[in-house]
Amino acid sequence: MSRIFSGIQPSGSLHIGNYLGAVKNWVDLQNKYESFFCVVDYHAITLPYRPADLRARTTDMALSLLAAGLDPEKCTLFVQSMVPEHTELAWIFNTLTPLGELERQTQFKDKASREESVPAGLLNYPVLQAADILLYRAELVPVGEDQLQHLELSREIARKWNARFDVEGGFFPEPKGLLTPTRRIMGLDGQAKMSKSLGNTVDLLEPPESIWEKLRPAVTDPKRVRRTDPGTPEVCNIYHLHKAFSPPATVEHVAVQCSTAGWGCIDCKRVLHASMEKELAPIRARAVEVAANPERVTEILSDGAEHARAVAHETMVEVKDKMGLR
Ligand code: ADP
Repeated sequence: MSRIFSGIQPSGSLHIGNYLGAVKNWVDLQNKYESFFCVVDYHAITLPYRPADLRARTTDMALSLLAAGLDPEKCTLFVQSMVPEHTELAWIFNTLTPLGELERQTQFKDKASREESVPAGLLNYPVLQAADILLYRAELVPVGEDQLQHLELSREIARKWNARFDVEGGFFPEPKGLLTPTRRIMGLDGQAKMSKSLGNTVDLLEPPESIWEKLRPAVTDPKRVRRTDPGTPEVCNIYHLHKAFSPPATVEHVAVQCSTAGWGCIDCKRVLHASMEKELAPIRARAVEVAANPERVTEILSDGAEHARAVAHETMVEVKDKMGLR
């Protein structure tokens, strides 16, 4: 059975961009692959944070992932800082990664441009990510589109390490991305991708009233000014969300109503809200069940870390041996 690995930062709440771009896919893939899913808290400390917040958000993220449908009987769910081999392998990969490659990463350039002082951890972030994946020698990585550039770097690091230390064997696989049809969800302002760090999210566990408060003023087709103007569904963020949440017949109907000005944008948003509620209400209900038993969440994470660590240890023994380390 092929192995997959993917991670999510506990830098905020799980949002519908994370869900549609990655986590919904994880829930499906856990049935088909040996799966490792990780709350990557070492990635979340590259920018200033409060320790108590991080601790709480890490637990909340695990809870949300379980509510979304990850099943500890089918996958290994764990927290990155409970498996120290991640940072050990990252150091090794740092010694192989050209500085120029890291400086070219779009996400680094974006994030660094918003900071007065840029910590080295922000630059080295994709190296730790390569270690996360390759520690489990994962072949497939289900992620959103924003991670493809980082993944290309992971492949280069795998190639480079193999070439230096395991020429014949190809010890590390070159991991490939697995995308969903909704590989990039925009924030409701239509300006940038939905992201925890940008505060433009709709959270997976958000109450329906609060989702509606965000949907109502959300940006649609900018050229559709009056109610009687026909719209262009393909340029409308709300239409893209319909494609993610509404059944195909509704999506078709929405497109016709929009392009003939049969519906106003608010009508279209009401239908979207109902479709979202259908998918999200059961997840919210499961979250209440999971939250009622916090000891069980702790136990799941500790079992997950134990299993992950056993696999990680095996990899590190071979890596160190091949590199002449003790
Ligand atoms: P964020 O940018 O919200 O902090 P993470 O970096 O923790 O998200 O990414 C977790 C997963 O969610 C990754 O696989 C990433 O590609 C995916 N993802 C994040 N934002 C989006 C989005 N707006 N649309 C689709 N997928 C996304």
